[in-house]
Amino acid sequence: MQTFQCVCQSKLFFGSTHCVSCDRTVAMCPACRKVSAMEPQTDGTWICQHKGCKTKLRPCQNRLDHAACNRGVRVDDEQELCTTCRLNQVIPDLTVDGNLEKWKRLEAAKRRVLFMVEKIGLPIGMPGQEELLPLRFEFKADDAEPVSTGHSEGLIVINIKEADSVHREQTRVEFGEPQRTLVGHFRHELGHYYWDLLVKPKLLKEFRELFGNEEAPTYADAQQIYYQKGARPDWREAFISGYATMHPWEDFAETFATYLDMVAIVFTAQHFGRVNVDVDLNEFDAMVKAYGEIGIVANEFNREIGLLDLVPEVFSKPVIEKLRFIHRLGNRSANRDSSPEQASGRQA
Ligand SMILES: [Zn+2]
Ligand SMILES: [Zn+2]
Ligand SMILES: [Zn+2]
Ligand SMILES: [Zn+2]
Repeated sequence: MQTFQCVCQSKLFFGSTHCVSCDRTVAMCPACRKVSAMEPQTDGTWICQHKGCKTKLRPCQNRLDHAACNRGVRVDDEQELCTTCRLNQVIPDLTVDGNLEKWKRLEAAKRRVLFMVEKIGLPIGMPGQEELLPLRFEFKADDAEPVSTGHSEGLIVINIKEADSVHREQTRVEFGEPQRTLVGHFRHELGHYYWDLLVKPKLLKEFRELFGNEEAPTYADAQQIYYQKGARPDWREAFISGYATMHPWEDFAETFATYLDMVAIVFTAQHFGRVNVDVDLNEFDAMVKAYGEIGIVANEFNREIGLLDLVPEVFSKPVIEKLRFIHRLGNRSANRDSSPEQASGRQA
């Protein structure tokens, strides 16, 4: 992620709520899409201080009530919640000990992932919109019924125990995964959403050539076979992960998540002047190359501290072609010439 700048010239971060130098109130502005200082007004609203923006905002209600969000809402927007928080259909029971912290971690990961999704020009269906499949979230705890993390017709359900790092690490080791993170969950489940939204309606033929036929075997059959036999031993030749071998839908979601990892890392490196790649353009091959180069360095940093590899995967040729297919989805649906103001207006 990039950093931002306060009016006092200090750095602000994506999750900032205050400037640590001048103590000004800070928020993510939906108009200029910058984390910037806010000038508080007597009526509780803010004026965005990012140069030239001056949009009148109020704090997202989840910030006021729970300190669970750092986004502003345009004052002319009728909704109390920001455009990210309003996608929630169910949030955890906050009277239960520990749930507020878990939910905050989920929201932070969700905001981070959705910011980049918008940045690469993928559309997000807002609740109440007719033309796009609305994206919705449910963050739930196991009850009488266990909650499975997954996606169905625009609804992403995440079991809140995934926000518990002990549980997550146990599961990661159990399934032999190189990484297991909240941002990774959001990226994977969004892959299923974008398959429904962008691939199913008009790109099915191209999809099947790369990922296989999603109707044969059926998802249920494929799942059963996978849980009996596991991934085929030669999966690295054509898949991004063992889990991707289960079914073309999982292959797409796993590859989509990897694509978002790559974009986020290369964008970050670009922001800090470490690579000369324009992530917003069609420089797919350059981006793959840059990601490989950053990966080597970042992995060595991580190994020095004893952390897991940042970029665990090696891209085989078939995986690169699958990633290229996903790259084109962003380009096709993007309105790259739109200014940030227009881009956020689209989903208001
Ligand atoms: Zn400041
Ligand atoms: Zn602004
Ligand atoms: Zn919010
Ligand atoms: Zn999946």
